[in-house]
Amino acid sequence: MSRTIAFVGLGHMGGPMAANLARAGHRVLGYDLVPAVVEAAGRAGVEPAVSVTEAVKVADVVISMLPTGRHVRGLYEETLATARPGTLFVDCSTIDVADARVAHQQALAAGVRALDAPVSGGVVGAEAATLTFMVGGGEDEFADARPLLEAMGDKAVHCGGPGAGQAAKICNNMILGVSMIAVSEAFVLGESLGLSHQALYDVVSTASGQCWALSVNCPVPGPVPTSPANRDYRPGFAASLMAKDLGLAANAVREGGVRVDLGVRAAELYAAYAERVGDSEDFSGIVRTVRKQSGERA
Ligand code: NAD
Repeated sequence: MSRTIAFVGLGHMGGPMAANLARAGHRVLGYDLVPAVVEAAGRAGVEPAVSVTEAVKVADVVISMLPTGRHVRGLYEETLATARPGTLFVDCSTIDVADARVAHQQALAAGVRALDAPVSGGVVGAEAATLTFMVGGGEDEFADARPLLEAMGDKAVHCGGPGAGQAAKICNNMILGVSMIAVSEAFVLGESLGLSHQALYDVVSTASGQCWALSVNCPVPGPVPTSPANRDYRPGFAASLMAKDLGLAANAVREGGVRVDLGVRAAELYAAYAERVGDSEDFSGIVRTVRKQSGERA
């Protein structure tokens, strides 16, 4: 069934996601503050919207892919009143669990429906329509959104009620951040013990220390030729994005009153690292910081 979709935020992720919806036969009205990305999406079949409210007014579904919770809440405050009753708002941005829950409440109060549906898979997954969606909200809303999510990705998991998608996203990325630091520390310890990168990789990749940070995104050059370490740590998944996601996890840790020592420490380490390298380096480049600091201590 062809739908009319207002797509807000046509950046690195949103641009190709909107293009994939247009390719699947939907009418997509695209909106962004930056004219150049609206033009680029236009070349991929996304109609430029006159204004965000005009797009939302005629939409069956509103999809947002914005930087932070502040942007999402701003969008909802600006547009919810103009949406037709029952319009489905699907926010795919990565934002605080608390902000996602507020956005759900705002939507409910305005008589529209909402899902949080953050993604993993990065720009490559957005372009190839192979994203994984982690979805929070009602069963009916999930069923309604599913064909659209499947046009942009190849997996959609319904994780629970409002905010559950964001919760799954930050838990996953907390594992990833902690495991990347652990793998980096193991390589630097191995170097000090005279162990070659290849030898450590050959053992760990088939032993109990195996994980994605090692076997796909290996932080040292050599063992996994496609990992960012082999191209001077060009992203990939930028350090700044990992720092953002760990910051969201740390917020949830504080708000939930749980004790999560490694996750909180990983957030601190990535915040300091990302302050230096921003989005110019893949998050696996943190191995160089571990090595440098070890040298300084030695
Ligand atoms: P981006 O900065 O490339 O795109 C965001 C877009 O939103 C920009 O084009 C910006 O102009 C636009 N925007 C900001 N405020 C707006 C407003 N009020 N109205 C309309 N447009 C507005 O960011 P991105 O890399 O596409 O990431 C988007 C979201 O997806 C973030 O929450 C990010 O954490 C998450 N994410 C990114 C990746 C990745 O690899 N880039 C992976 C997974 C999740």
